[in-house]
Amino acid sequence: MATDVTIPAKTDVLIIGAGPAGIFCALSLLERGDGRQITMVEKGLPIERRSCPKEQIGHCVNCHPCRITTGFSGAGAFSDGKLSLSYEVGGDLPELIGPDLAQETISRCDQVYLDFGADPHVEGIEHPEEVAKIRRRAIGAGLKLVDCPIRHLGTERAQEIYGRIQQHLIDAGVTILFEHECLDLMVERLTSGPVCTGAFVRPMKGSSSAHTVRAKKVVVATGRRGASWLADACEAHGIGHEPGPMDMGVRVEVRNEVMEDVNNVLYESKLVGYPNPFRDKVRTFCQNPGGFVSQENYDNGLAVVNGHSYKDRKSHNTNLAVLCTQHFQEPFDRPIAYAQRVGTLMNMLGAGHILVQRFGDILDGKRTWRKELRRSNVVPTLPDAEPGDITSAMPYRAMTDIVEFIKAVDQVVPGFAASETLLYAPELKFYSNRVRMTERFETNVANLHCLGDSSGWTRGLMMASVMGMLMGEWLD
Ligand SMILES: Cc1cc2nc3c(=O)[nH]c(=O)nc-3n(C[C@H](O)[C@H](O)[C@H](O)COP(=O)(O)OP(=O)(O)OC[C@H]3O[C@@H](n4cnc5c(N)ncnc54)[C@H](O)[C@@H]3O)c2cc1C
Repeated sequence: MATDVTIPAKTDVLIIGAGPAGIFCALSLLERGDGRQITMVEKGLPIERRSCPKEQIGHCVNCHPCRITTGFSGAGAFSDGKLSLSYEVGGDLPELIGPDLAQETISRCDQVYLDFGADPHVEGIEHPEEVAKIRRRAIGAGLKLVDCPIRHLGTERAQEIYGRIQQHLIDAGVTILFEHECLDLMVERLTSGPVCTGAFVRPMKGSSSAHTVRAKKVVVATGRRGASWLADACEAHGIGHEPGPMDMGVRVEVRNEVMEDVNNVLYESKLVGYPNPFRDKVRTFCQNPGGFVSQENYDNGLAVVNGHSYKDRKSHNTNLAVLCTQHFQEPFDRPIAYAQRVGTLMNMLGAGHILVQRFGDILDGKRTWRKELRRSNVVPTLPDAEPGDITSAMPYRAMTDIVEFIKAVDQVVPGFAASETLLYAPELKFYSNRVRMTERFETNVANLHCLGDSSGWTRGLMMASVMGMLMGEWLD
């Protein structure tokens, strides 16, 4: 069990955020056995206290901070726990460190997950002939099928595994400040250039003011939730960064029967296309056979859709995200704010709820009504989603990308573009601000390093873990 600890005035390594990136950084620092004092600051709860009230009362009560995305193991604890075992999936880190090192480190991180109790079974490697058939259909539809073996932890088991890791870190002497928020970084301007010397940390509860924690090395691993906080810190302290792409889309839900072939053979179909007329990259992401559509709430009240699946509890549906990547040109450089505005508009139309619409209604130019949902084979697994009109809030470019892509996927998965197919929105991924770093994760501010989804270089559990493991090995 995690116990109460006091905020230290100084530490050797300060890790901000206890998601997979921060955790693997701490684990690999410990492996080095050089006795450094490691302190982690985490605004959420220890893993054993992370429970979403919605499970009991059936609706979201807007916890602050959200227990689904904050706390030990970050967004990973309540995630589906699908570890993507290919460097081609999970973000752009291979561009920074090279595909060979990325793949080799994936294997080492995977071994750590196994050591802490992950299921040895790997999905997606057993049916090469069936995969070839699916690939032939994808080629015919103008889509690329990315091969990616998956180790599926499952939402419940992921929590057990991360629980063991939490205990291991605490037993090894890592100080974890739960329910503490990092307000700002301390950056001093020396003649040699800017240097990070620590951070300001405040308990989330009570009215206590911020404490100064001085550190020889500061590692920021604040995840997608902390992306806009990090963007502000980059602006305030002159940390080199650039606006990255922005991913916007919908979560699609169909009956399991529709996805059966792909689910049995691949577990997860990672399809990528560049539909006309915009030729933006559009892809499937985070596929949950027998899964449940879920809602996440950001601190600014924004409700976004996501999905997960449990190892032992299954629905009749499969859900997956369809995301389009958009790159903005000058003078615009605020993709996070853009996506937030679109999301807010969607929430407004749904009276604060996630919007759901049938694909056929989108093609027919009409909203969806609740009584129409009852006529379908597919029953929404997010019952409090509001039937409505996504097209009234989704930008034309993104909507066109999504519609054309869904039609192309229908050639690979017949029935995918059926009238009753459900689209939930907004599905937004805020990893847009990319921190400029060397291949050893050094920023232009000495002693400051950025990891995981908040750095803009990763987009998944495994890649965030990889970045953390390498950081722990490289920190001088
Ligand atoms: C519902 C859901 C399902 C998902 N399913 C999958 C999946 O199956 N497979 C997959 O690969 N990925 C999945 N993901 C994505 C995956 O969880 C993330 O990519 C991964 O967790 C990123 O790791 P991270 O360490 O970079 O950040 P995070 O896991 O987000 O952790 C960051 C931590 O930093 C803390 N933090 C933020 N700001 C501050 C601050 N100022 N002070 C203190 N602490 C702070 C947060 O509380 C959080 O705990 C899913 C995500 C969600 C939400």
